Amino acid sequence: MKKILVIGAGIGGLSAAALLAAKGHSVTVIERNARAGGKMNEFRRDGFRFDTGPSLMTMPFVLEDLFGTCGKKLSDYVNLIPLDQICRYHYADGTIFNCYADREKTLQEIRRIAPEDSDAYIDFLGYCEKIYERTTGSFLENPLYSFSDFRNLNFADLLKIDALTTVSKRVDRVFRSDYMRMFFKRFTTYNGSSPFLAPATLNVIPHVELTLGGYYLNGGLYSLAEALERLGSELGVEFRYNESVRQITGKDRTVQGVITGTGEEITCDAVFSNSDAAETYSHLLTGNMADRRMRRKVEKAEPSCSGFVLLLGSDRKFDSLGHHTIFYSGDYKKEFDDLFVHMRPSEDPTIYVANTSHTEPGHAPAGMSNLFVLVNAPYLTADSDWESQKDGYALLIIKQLEQRGLTGLGDSLRVQSIITPADFYENYRSNRGSIYGTSSNDRLSAFRRPANKARSIRGLYLTGGSTHPGGGIPLTVLSARHAVTLFQRDN
Ligand SMILES: Cc1cc2nc3c(=O)[nH]c(=O)nc-3n(C[C@H](O)[C@H](O)[C@H](O)COP(=O)(O)OP(=O)(O)OC[C@H]3O[C@@H](n4cnc5c(N)ncnc54)[C@H](O)[C@@H]3O)c2cc1C
Repeated sequence: MKKILVIGAGIGGLSAAALLAAKGHSVTVIERNARAGGKMNEFRRDGFRFDTGPSLMTMPFVLEDLFGTCGKKLSDYVNLIPLDQICRYHYADGTIFNCYADREKTLQEIRRIAPEDSDAYIDFLGYCEKIYERTTGSFLENPLYSFSDFRNLNFADLLKIDALTTVSKRVDRVFRSDYMRMFFKRFTTYNGSSPFLAPATLNVIPHVELTLGGYYLNGGLYSLAEALERLGSELGVEFRYNESVRQITGKDRTVQGVITGTGEEITCDAVFSNSDAAETYSHLLTGNMADRRMRRKVEKAEPSCSGFVLLLGSDRKFDSLGHHTIFYSGDYKKEFDDLFVHMRPSEDPTIYVANTSHTEPGHAPAGMSNLFVLVNAPYLTADSDWESQKDGYALLIIKQLEQRGLTGLGDSLRVQSIITPADFYENYRSNRGSIYGTSSNDRLSAFRRPANKARSIRGLYLTGGSTHPGGGIPLTVLSARHAVTLFQRDN
């Protein structure tokens, strides 16, 4: 039995802690915040309840697998609700498109708004599925660490994952209507990247949502963080909240323990860091444990985009909103140029609204709505100044929602809270406020994410959305699996 310390109780840290405890190790999680979840969090005020991070769950089988490995059943911990209407899209010209889990119902919608693309829709989903089949074993489920992992790569498959063109170019070639083009380009933002820069391999994401399904969790997505914490506790994991790790210590490039914010020295056999990889290599490994090569690498990698979030408790219900609703900007290309080239918040952003009170009326007082509003925002740069910008930007978004049919929204608000990219750094130490780790804005960036085990320091493993295979709930859980696999190989 080894003594293991996990830094951070985000989804990656919680998953790794449970897997390690299930194997009989003694595991302590140290989390700087007051509760578990990291970017998966919740906010309650005056009878309104909001998820403040993820709102859509995909690939639930990854979690079923995790709970199964720990000898438990996911369904005993959370109640997964498959969404019939996955998302409602409002285009700038007023056209509405409802996307359903039922492919035939979605096709009826496409025949209504873009009949010229209905055949292409089916063909494209077939192409997305092939990319999924070719990348799952080679990339997602492969720790990609040692020679044997790379030997398992199927190079013939990798040549067929459409990496030589961008998402946008492939989508434009396949679809004729702007409605379908914008629809398929949006999925790239699920990993915080730009469809105009990212390789078409990311067309794997529509398969995950449209074919494998989109899910909500009864009680809100935060119930998953609570479930993972409960799982860990039942397996004997010790959780220490409101404490941070200041430094990872060791000798001869081998981890020996950590020093906490209060100066306490804790010894252990291995550290699993769920702190952002940039934070781990730049701030937690110093002095004799510094890894200059990795530090340079993580600081050079382009972060994913960040997000600007409004939590709005409104005393109204809005008929134009489903559980998930998107209001597209008028100029999608310009929006992404603003985000990744000019590094400024867009003045005409695509606005995402999650309204869980649509599915669970108890998340808002009777007759009212709890709106989680998210727009993509650039990661932090030296010029970012969200403190002076945030109120004006919130107002701009509320006004745009009013113009898009949420009449009287501003006057109806009983609760309003803002989360900026700067908060994502302050609250969770996310590198430059990014919400999905590094971006996939070039052909190879997905393969350049930090590995789940440090190469130059023995006993240090990394998990979380900033590490291989990437951000989002299921990939973060896979990162924990890989870190634990690599730990087992060593022990
Ligand atoms: C607004 C938003 C919307 C999103 N929407 C979705 C969605 O719909 N679907 C989806 O699948 N994903 C979504 N995501 C992404 C998803 O939330 C993340 O990929 C995932 O939660 C990241 O988990 P993580 O393991 O990387 O940990 P993080 O959430 O980054 O947590 C790391 C934890 O480590 C702690 N920590 C850091 N440094 C230290 C230290 N030195 N000492 C102690 N503790 C430390 C932090 O406080 C934090 O709690 C969204 C994210 C955001 C922010």
